[in-house]
Amino acid sequence: MAPRNPGIDRRRLLQLGAAASGLLVGCGASPEAPAGAAAPAEMRYRPLGRTGLKVSELTFGSHGVDNPPLMQAALEAGVTTFFTSGEYLDGREEIAMGTAMKALGVRRENVVIITGSEVRRGTTKSRVLAAIDGSLRRLGTDHIDVYTTFDVCSPADLQVDALYEAFDEARQAGKVKALALSGHCGGMQPCLEAAIADGRIEVLLFKYDFVSYPDVDEILHRAAEKGIGAVVFKTNAGARHKEIKDLEAGGLSFQRATVKWALGNPDISSVAVTITNFKQIRDLTAAVGSPLTTAEVAMLRRYAREMGDRYCRFCSSCEASCPGGVAVADVMRYAMYFSGYGREKEAMQRYRDLPRTRTAAACAGCAAPCEAACPFGRPVHAELVAAHRMLSLTEARG
Ligand code: SF4
Ligand code: SF4
Repeated sequence: MAPRNPGIDRRRLLQLGAAASGLLVGCGASPEAPAGAAAPAEMRYRPLGRTGLKVSELTFGSHGVDNPPLMQAALEAGVTTFFTSGEYLDGREEIAMGTAMKALGVRRENVVIITGSEVRRGTTKSRVLAAIDGSLRRLGTDHIDVYTTFDVCSPADLQVDALYEAFDEARQAGKVKALALSGHCGGMQPCLEAAIADGRIEVLLFKYDFVSYPDVDEILHRAAEKGIGAVVFKTNAGARHKEIKDLEAGGLSFQRATVKWALGNPDISSVAVTITNFKQIRDLTAAVGSPLTTAEVAMLRRYAREMGDRYCRFCSSCEASCPGGVAVADVMRYAMYFSGYGREKEAMQRYRDLPRTRTAAACAGCAAPCEAACPFGRPVHAELVAAHRMLSLTEARG
């Protein structure tokens, strides 16, 4: 079934057409390596807004990875930017990253580290400072290049005085350099607008793909004009692995194509990808500096056309119609973590952490008014029932 919002896809596909002819790819990018980095010629680097940092076009997203040889391979491929979180695996991921960097003899000045924590209203300056100190300790470093407030989902999530007060104090102490927000929910456009208007957020990290987020490129361009940097992630538009595998017949790489597409926007500094194997590093390094081919454009177009009703954009448009207040976008996202990314344990933990009324527990017996509210014509009801079974393992329990 075709999406009911053809304007969005038309604009994106027009971009794909431009990218295929080489009009977008590489514009405004700097091919030079930062001083001191032992990078092969093929990696490229872009300034991160006004932060004074230069990032590799590919960022090593370390979610769930504890693998020094993999980090070594990424470094050798010229990747200098690493993205983690104090909250992934309760901080163990930062420990793994710090340990690996130490073991590999990485010079701190040659890498850019992005990390952070979820900072919400009601917290205190001392708690935020403690979170920053915790990340420094676990990473075994004296400073963090980009400190991030995670899971921003509404402009209100940015109205936290304690965050700015703590960040200023930490910056004066030399512990942090730039402040970022990170988010992947459907309410990102207002969040990005609020950050631009406020002026204290220096880097935007968010979900960006070729079928979602109408109008975000125009927002990004205004952000760039104000010197706000952008690092994007989740470029795979839902990570529907089975369908992607079918599309890749003939030696294409879906992920490489989506990274190329994202890098075609000169207002984006880097694309963060969760790296789990060596082939990915080879594939994605090849995405840097090379335009989308005609075959890759055809693949992305086909995915957009065929996956229009199967891919949840996490836009939350359907949630107001749910009498029970189910967190549809979150449930769908956790289901994607489980079946698309293979992060089963984390997905189930996140689902367990939702208040019971926000889970899809009640969906099975519901007439599903949410389905008519989805602008993309998605089978919301069936997917929520399946997601609940998967994330709570009710099938396994019988
Ligand atoms: S199926 Fe019913 S309970 Fe579940 S999200 Fe839709 S409206 Fe809400
Ligand atoms: S099911 Fe549809 S309306 Fe609901 S969050 Fe997903 S894409 Fe948006």
